[in-house]
Amino acid sequence: MKEAKKKNKLYEGKAKIVYETDNEDIYIQEFKDDATAGDGAKKGKIKSKGIVNNQVSGHLFTYLESYHVPTHFIKTLSDRAMFIKKLEMIPIEVVMRNIATGSLVKRYGVEEGKELEQPILEYYLKDDAKHDPMINEDHILSFGHADAEELKQIQRLTKKINAVLKSFFYRRNMLLVDFKLEYGRYKNGKICLGDEISPDTCRFWDVETNEKLDKDRFRQDLGKVEEAYQEVLKRVLKTVN
Ligand code: UDP
Repeated sequence: MKEAKKKNKLYEGKAKIVYETDNEDIYIQEFKDDATAGDGAKKGKIKSKGIVNNQVSGHLFTYLESYHVPTHFIKTLSDRAMFIKKLEMIPIEVVMRNIATGSLVKRYGVEEGKELEQPILEYYLKDDAKHDPMINEDHILSFGHADAEELKQIQRLTKKINAVLKSFFYRRNMLLVDFKLEYGRYKNGKICLGDEISPDTCRFWDVETNEKLDKDRFRQDLGKVEEAYQEVLKRVLKTVN
């Protein structure tokens, strides 16, 4: 690939910036240290978070590709940035849960830390002004965010990603409690995994101690936030059997 050159900033979100390049099919995604929580109420920075999330996401996207999960990852560009394929993003947050915590406990009163009988897949509309309301398949189809075939593919991929990553993290002494994914359409119309997979978008608990190793340390003021991100990076990069 001829190296694409960085052009205009296209979009700046809470944790990432997306740039256009001189290749219309390729964007650059840059990870910031900024952190928000509680629907934007809490704001702060986590030192080197952007560097960790860039590396963790790059590694996990590459790993998922080896299991034939299509992702937007092309290659790492720098410590904080990666080249990605341009996707037409679907404005839905797909959440997969293996263990009860967070909003599942608050909404439904499930016991904190309970291993779910079967994983739960949820959808939220990506709309900050409306506080990301939970939606179901009918909303997605009726509002035209995706068609039935695309939705089926999103479910298949999300279940596969859960199985692959659960085992990846377990071998690194972490429980994959829950996580959030975002998908888009590649230029051929194919559904492709986008965004990031990192301690910002997943919950990880240490297998032995149940210690939280993710953004919940920031959300809940638990301390040792940077250390947790570094620990996840170390474990992700570790070679295990
Ligand atoms: N999540 C995310 N972005 C969001 C909301 C949730 O990445 O805007 C992730 C979060 O890190 C967790 C999972 O999705 O891994 C489920 O989050 P939950 O709905 O429990 O969030 P809470 O209400 O507890 O913040």
